[in-house]
Amino acid sequence: MIPHNRPFITTDDIAAVDAVLRSGWLAEGPAVGRLEESFKVLFGGGEACAVSSGTAALFLAIKTLDLEPGCLVAIPSYSCSALLNAVIMAGARPRIVDVRTDTFCIDPVALEAQARDAHCVIAVHVFGASADVAALKTGGRVVLEDCCQSLGGQHAGMLLGTSGAAAVFSFYASKIVTGGQGGLVWARDREFVERVRDYREFDGRATYAPRFNLQMTDIQAALAGSQLTRLEDIRARRAEIARRYLAALPDGIKAQVGLLSGHRMAHRFVAVAPDLSSRERLREHMRSAGIECTVPVEKFELLHRYWNLAPAAFPAAESVSDTTLSLPMHLCLTDDEIAFISSTLQQFRT
Ligand SMILES: *Cc1c(COP(=O)(O)O)cnc(C)c1O
Repeated sequence: MIPHNRPFITTDDIAAVDAVLRSGWLAEGPAVGRLEESFKVLFGGGEACAVSSGTAALFLAIKTLDLEPGCLVAIPSYSCSALLNAVIMAGARPRIVDVRTDTFCIDPVALEAQARDAHCVIAVHVFGASADVAALKTGGRVVLEDCCQSLGGQHAGMLLGTSGAAAVFSFYASKIVTGGQGGLVWARDREFVERVRDYREFDGRATYAPRFNLQMTDIQAALAGSQLTRLEDIRARRAEIARRYLAALPDGIKAQVGLLSGHRMAHRFVAVAPDLSSRERLREHMRSAGIECTVPVEKFELLHRYWNLAPAAFPAAESVSDTTLSLPMHLCLTDDEIAFISSTLQQFRT
């Protein structure tokens, strides 16, 4: 079976982790500092704070906004439970919004209809596609960019993550750059990130304030930092895979829009079938050839369903979860495997 995902680890990555293991310092230390510096270089300034996960980064970014208790934070339905968890943990109230059927990102029109009074919006750049941050900012809303699936991608010449109040990243095993686990908050506003850091540094402080251990280890940071040096190669290889799959799309099957536009980081290649039954047949067609494909967000995972809201108010998220299938898109794939996946895809008849 060709796996849907698999972390790509080079001998340089192993050497970077090995050096930490031999150094006598495993907890948060110099490698975490170097990872944060690398993000400042990548983003041309600002400040970065590495934490234990993408969810922790989201939680800390929302918390650091100092919203009034119970303040509304808009989140897209088509995303993971981490968003809902982070909003609730930070003491805010989630307001779930439908998405666009072409980008799968939060829909600015639905935002006006479903969360007009939200002070803050979390813009997830889904599978690398860019959410419309400018439109989401309408009316002075604060936008947090969730770049867990778009690290290094650009839109209209701007790095994703540089248009909102702050950006969050994840280094989970299936992400673009991994440390096994881990996360990071970046913002141009250095003082904002220093408040995030203050919360993370819970130990040995002169005065007490509620803080928490959300630290990343140097082992994780060394791995993520080593992978980050290959970001441009990772982007180019993913774009190459996307190009090959797009050229092989059979009649009736589409893909998420913009996979090759600009300088996108294609985190996943998501095919779109006309309906649920053809999506299931496509999945079976691939599986029987030994290719593992997954449904990126299952219907029961849609946030409006977790929150017990009527599905009828979220037609786009419902439809996207019914019709999408994610194909293997990772750096362990060989050219032969990519050719095999492409030809298998091409042979499908809707
Ligand atoms: C992975 C992911 C998260 C959560 O990151 P973890 O490191 O797994 O906690 C949040 N948002 C999005 C869009 C993600 O893809």
